[in-house]
Amino acid sequence: MCDCKVGPGKFEGEPALTFLAWDAMMDGSSDATTGDSERGTLTEWLRGPGPFGFSSDSVDAAREYGYCDPCILAALATPAAGIELWESEQGFVYGREFATLEDFEASLAEAEAEDAGPEVHVFEQTASEVAAQDEDAVWEYLKRPEFRLATMNGRDRERMLDAMVAELGITGGWYYRISDDGVNDGPFETRREAQTAADRAAGEWS
Ligand SMILES: [Zn+2]
Repeated sequence: MCDCKVGPGKFEGEPALTFLAWDAMMDGSSDATTGDSERGTLTEWLRGPGPFGFSSDSVDAAREYGYCDPCILAALATPAAGIELWESEQGFVYGREFATLEDFEASLAEAEAEDAGPEVHVFEQTASEVAAQDEDAVWEYLKRPEFRLATMNGRDRERMLDAMVAELGITGGWYYRISDDGVNDGPFETRREAQTAADRAAGEWS
């Protein structure tokens, strides 16, 4: 049945739906744009249901490009709940259909989160708080007779942490954590230093 004559080029190997969606997108029917053209991740999102703003001009253009009528008709009747489109660095256009709106929204949200970059958290910790997180050291100190009850008794716990801070030279300060991959570092003397280091780390991450 198919009589498509789509030669090599921009839409090579892509169905009529990709052509029509791209044409509609160029006419302004994209619902969202994500990514970055410099990184080759620029993506356009068309939320369904169809016909995604396909015009008779688009149909004519598709026919002219070499798509056959049965394929164009099938594309016009697409049950897709959404389409994403992107263009490779070489200029080839690719499309992906989403069967459900949930799939579409989930993928769009993921792409938007990626654009927003990793979440950076800058916070201050006291020396005792830092000491309490050093599990190996806490384990060692709990073996000492004078700190045996430190897991149950708040005052003993405080004394133990004070001893750790003094003996191990633990200092508090400013820290940062990057949520996405759990990178964290510190202490820094000031919030500004922690923020600067965090921004640098987040930049390398993305
Ligand atoms: Zn065809």
